[in-house]
Amino acid sequence: MKFSGVLFLVAISTMLAVSDAIKTVVFPTETNTDYVELSPLKSLNLAAFTLCMRVATELSGHREVTLFAYRTPDADELNVWRELDGRLALYLRTSAGSEAVHFQVPQLGALETHLCITWDSSSGAAALFLDGRKSLTKIYKKGHRVQSGGRVILGQDLDSYEGSFDAKQSFVGEISDVNMWDSVLPDSTIQRMSSGKRVPRGNVFDWEATPLKIHGGAKVLNREL
Ligand code: CA
Ligand code: CA
Repeated sequence: MKFSGVLFLVAISTMLAVSDAIKTVVFPTETNTDYVELSPLKSLNLAAFTLCMRVATELSGHREVTLFAYRTPDADELNVWRELDGRLALYLRTSAGSEAVHFQVPQLGALETHLCITWDSSSGAAALFLDGRKSLTKIYKKGHRVQSGGRVILGQDLDSYEGSFDAKQSFVGEISDVNMWDSVLPDSTIQRMSSGKRVPRGNVFDWEATPLKIHGGAKVLNREL
């Protein structure tokens, strides 16, 4: 009986270990063709969110780099950029030239960073977390609401609903573990997630369940956290 109990525990821990294997997407080169489209679990009609990903890129300082693009037929609805000067930026509902909220944080690099962005419409509070460390809070777009009905892609910046990609804004590197919640998660939950611990899964995007549509030369591999 004891022996079978041990076997059972071994089986369970093996299952848990296996379930920590996740997809990761490699964007090998600068293109205007390679991207991955994510299907949300619920509509992106959002008054608050937490968006997290693991990201590594060697494009530091060369140009703008798109990290997350959500566009409706009418507008760039929710975009995350690494700007030319290395700052990270969140743009909600913008047209060309309109303002973002910027964070002057350490540069993304070849070593992976766990990045989260939180925003809450009721206060306008926006903040970043890099490897679990929280930035200052900034106030951005208080009272705004993110609209549903668009497309979310990684790897390229959408300038129209169909695409209109610019290679000089593409992402080159690796992105994985992209999750999104329709609320602001507690700091402690984000800290646990950044160190690879299990947390409640994203209810807008759950990286383990969200189907990925691969386009061009983007490569999906498996990794274990
Ligand atoms: Ca563009
Ligand atoms: Ca755009």
